[in-house]
Amino acid sequence: MFLNALLTDLEYTLVKGDLHKEAAAIAYDSREASANGVFVAVSGFSVDGHQYIDKAIALGATTIILEKDIAVPEDVTVLRVANTREALARVSANFYHRPTEQMNLLGITGTNGKTSTTYFLQSIFEQTGTSLGIIGTIGTVIGDKVFQNKNTTPESLNLQQIFAEMIQSDMKHCVMEVSSHALNLSRVAHSSFKTGIFTNLTPDHLELHHTMEEYFEAKAKLFDMTTDYNIINADDPYGRRLIDRLRDRAPKLLTYGIEQDTDIHAADIHYFADYTIYTVNTPKGSATVKVNLPGTIYVYNSLAAVATAYANQFSLQQIVQGIAAVEGIKGRLEVVYQDEDSKIIVDFAHTEDSLEKALKTIRPFAKGRIILVFGVYASDGESGTEKRRAMAKVAAACADFSVITSDNPKMQDNNLIIREIVEGMEACKGDYEAVVDRRDAIAFAINISQKGDVILIAGKGHETSQIIGKTEYPFNEAEIVREIKLKAK
Ligand code: ADP
Repeated sequence: MFLNALLTDLEYTLVKGDLHKEAAAIAYDSREASANGVFVAVSGFSVDGHQYIDKAIALGATTIILEKDIAVPEDVTVLRVANTREALARVSANFYHRPTEQMNLLGITGTNGKTSTTYFLQSIFEQTGTSLGIIGTIGTVIGDKVFQNKNTTPESLNLQQIFAEMIQSDMKHCVMEVSSHALNLSRVAHSSFKTGIFTNLTPDHLELHHTMEEYFEAKAKLFDMTTDYNIINADDPYGRRLIDRLRDRAPKLLTYGIEQDTDIHAADIHYFADYTIYTVNTPKGSATVKVNLPGTIYVYNSLAAVATAYANQFSLQQIVQGIAAVEGIKGRLEVVYQDEDSKIIVDFAHTEDSLEKALKTIRPFAKGRIILVFGVYASDGESGTEKRRAMAKVAAACADFSVITSDNPKMQDNNLIIREIVEGMEACKGDYEAVVDRRDAIAFAINISQKGDVILIAGKGHETSQIIGKTEYPFNEAEIVREIKLKAK
């Protein structure tokens, strides 16, 4: 591509050099710079791309896009922009011929429920033989290909490349999880979203956003980018704020919920130990939905999928078939062991809200006690004391016994994390034992369990590793439970 075409719709000042030349590639990591390429100097959290401009030039970059007033002595083209992250998104979209303008891109945001909603949607699309690309926590899925992303929402350059690959594979629909972090860092800038979906907002990632207000405003940005539909959970207080804000504006608003009067509404809900049945009422009629997962949260997540599929012109029959076809979701209230005496469940709950909901979902069906195994993962940047106390409070209130353990302590002081959870437990007079090693903690829980007890191992869900220090150790909870059970026999 020619550089002047690559710069279409980008606001910049030409500091020096020529625009009539080739732009063979784009890089924001100097190590990936290549001949006749464009290097975009992005200021990251730990490294500043401006310091690596000479390295990028040494590897062949002939155009530099920067935002700082620094001299580049080499004979290259230099362009100055107000925000290099935003510029990276613009040139990346241009480089890949603006792929999202040729596709039906659905963006889903919210603290919890994004991945499960995505699973339900994928199944609904599959029912009609329509393939749906996925970008999110589970990785990127393009047909049979699945690969892991470094972040829930990849950097704009990688993202645009993924979209282009989807177009090449003739995939016209894509659902992507859009994190608040990605919205703030312009990763999804210049992506054209047809639909935005808001699941809920509860405390998480406050180490990045500091206040709930900031967190909310970051998420709200998605709904200024959509063209066709905004789909919002009206039972969530922040969802209602969003609805008030978006009500009289294009695009169309579609609300869903159980408690509020909504466009897509669940009524007559019957909960069972491992599935739920409800009636969904829509402007085009009603249908019975069977969700093969227990609890209110999966009523909400399936409703989000119903609303999205409804907006995408699927029939109610296709929608309910698609939802019923989801047998279960890895690490989402997944029963990893069950016999006549006991049940062991693995769940990804790692916020106070989701932990409380998971425990309350299990409670009505537990014949004996609920034994909870949990930790609090290391929060980047901040100490996280408040979160540890809040998680302990939920555990003390909603479980009968807690085994406090490690959850990806990374470089943080694991003993301090556990001590702070223990302090929270003591303050709430919860019944607990601290077992630092997570495998030992699971074994301990199994060992003390009695007939009828349910063990909930929360925090890791589908994840298969534990990060201690800088090392990532394999850690598959379903397998660990089976090994311990096998040894006990
Ligand atoms: P996300 O992709 O947003 O993290 P998931 O669907 O993977 O969401 O769910 C992650 C965890 O959050 C689940 O294991 C569950 O404990 C909790 N969860 C899921 N949906 C909801 C919801 N609607 N409300 C509250 N908690 C939820």
